[in-house]
Amino acid sequence: MTKHAVVIAGGGPTGLMLAAELALARVDVAIVERRANQDLAGSRAGGLHSRTIEVLDQRGVADRFLSQGQVMQVTGFAMIRLDISDFPTRHNYGLALSQNHIEPILAAWVDELAVPIYREREVTGFAQDDTGVDIALSDGRSLRAKYLVGCDGGRSLIRKKTGIDFPGWDPSVSYLIAEVEMAAEPPWGIRFSDKGINALGKLDDGKRVRLVLIEPNVKQGDAPTLDNLREALIAVYGTDFSVHNVTFLSRFTDMARQAASYRDRRVLLAGDAAHVHGPTGGQGLNIGVQDAVNLGWKLAQVVSGTSPESLLDTYQTERHPIGARVLKNSLAQTALMRGDERTKALHENMSELLEMDEPRKRYAAMMSGLDIRYDLGSGHPLLGRRMPDLQLVTESGPRRVFTLLHDARPVLLDLGEPGVIDIAPWDDRVKRVDARYAGVWELPVLGVVAAPTAVLIRPDGYVAWVGDGTASGLRDALITWFGQPDHGPGATVSRRSATDSNTSTIATARRCDGTS
Ligand SMILES: Cc1cc2nc3c(=O)[nH]c(=O)nc-3n(C[C@H](O)[C@H](O)[C@H](O)COP(=O)(O)OP(=O)(O)OC[C@H]3O[C@@H](n4cnc5c(N)ncnc54)[C@H](O)[C@@H]3O)c2cc1C
Repeated sequence: MTKHAVVIAGGGPTGLMLAAELALARVDVAIVERRANQDLAGSRAGGLHSRTIEVLDQRGVADRFLSQGQVMQVTGFAMIRLDISDFPTRHNYGLALSQNHIEPILAAWVDELAVPIYREREVTGFAQDDTGVDIALSDGRSLRAKYLVGCDGGRSLIRKKTGIDFPGWDPSVSYLIAEVEMAAEPPWGIRFSDKGINALGKLDDGKRVRLVLIEPNVKQGDAPTLDNLREALIAVYGTDFSVHNVTFLSRFTDMARQAASYRDRRVLLAGDAAHVHGPTGGQGLNIGVQDAVNLGWKLAQVVSGTSPESLLDTYQTERHPIGARVLKNSLAQTALMRGDERTKALHENMSELLEMDEPRKRYAAMMSGLDIRYDLGSGHPLLGRRMPDLQLVTESGPRRVFTLLHDARPVLLDLGEPGVIDIAPWDDRVKRVDARYAGVWELPVLGVVAAPTAVLIRPDGYVAWVGDGTASGLRDALITWFGQPDHGPGATVSRRSATDSNTSTIATARRCDGTS
């Protein structure tokens, strides 16, 4: 039986991102993927939001995506455009790039990181015990892993086999998405009907048609027929335009469901396996990738024994509310896009509201993922929020903060006097960087915040501790997020007094809880 530390079921966007995160942390990880390659029938996600581009930038791979897509203002709520060009981020835009392009770029990166992918076979079952999981594959082979992560999409076999509940809302509308030819020229663009939006657009060859259509009656199942397509065309347009040569036909709905738990002992869920919702607002792939970035470093630390298993509980605590919020906003957007007169009036009112600066910023930050705040307690506004990509001056020259995160290791960024904070007991796992930063600290929506003297940045780019001139709370934060120090319980985080650091001589050791 082949062994890996972690096996990921499903090599879609979430599984690929998670594999990269684990490989960067030097975990022996493998993917099992049903498909022979990353080809997708038809189209799914249309692009990346700002925060997803940021997390890719944190790993040094954003340019691979930016060079293939089109940078534009893509953020919106119920198709109300929300401009984020005034947001304080290097990536104050979204990227139009289809999932058909996103997946191969991720797969090529995962390949560079030498992650094995067992292709053209499925995970068919598993059994977990106290030390690991036995995973059965469709080719009759078995794998053994310490942890199994289900990144196997909305119909996740892994989720179903764990018995984790998947509560939520049944669909109120079903859509057909197709690529076809039509004998007659259709009316291009958007047409509202009572339940929402229908759209007909020309594909790149100028002849073929890509369409999204509301079905007259809600249907489920991903194998719609040509008759279903004709019926839906007639219901919306009064004719089927002699539709023929259908090369892609699929169905999606606004069903919204979320796994009650993202973990059952040694089995975890991420991406669509953990949450499904309508595509309005373009959030599914984006939050799947960000689930992976939240989970990767935590799982790596648990697998290597650096952190206790309880660290995995924070994956649920932090990511479940994000998924729940996306479900709610997708329900709201579907409702707002109905084409009846009352809903149209409501949509107009919402549009007016979102033209105002404060509501625009709040909704745009939610939809682009830039407002995420994990609840790490009260304190400085940076705590639990994304670390801005500041332009620093370091001993080795100018550096952007995100470049410090390329190897997915935590960073203690000391902006005070060099060498004042000592995190020696965590040297093997936390990278310490002394730097200067002279500019303002500005966060999306919140605006300018007080400049900290130091920040502890998790590998996912969220701030775990903020220094206010003392090292108070740093030791606790280091233990919580990066495990007990190697040198026993007596290890201290020292901080030189201001006078000492001025003369750069004697260091006054203080416990990082502030006591000296
Ligand atoms: C019409 C449409 C439009 C969308 N538009 C957007 C958008 O604009 N923006 C956005 O962010 N999202 C969008 N989405 C959602 C997005 O496509 C999904 O959220 C995203 O693909 C989820 O990624 P995932 O890796 O979690 O799951 P998936 O992409 O579903 O990948 C799961 C993978 O697991 C494999 N698999 C399944 N079962 C097994 C098994 N038992 N063993 C081995 N392998 C298995 C599958 O082959 C697949 O490769 C859209 C979706 C649809 C349908």
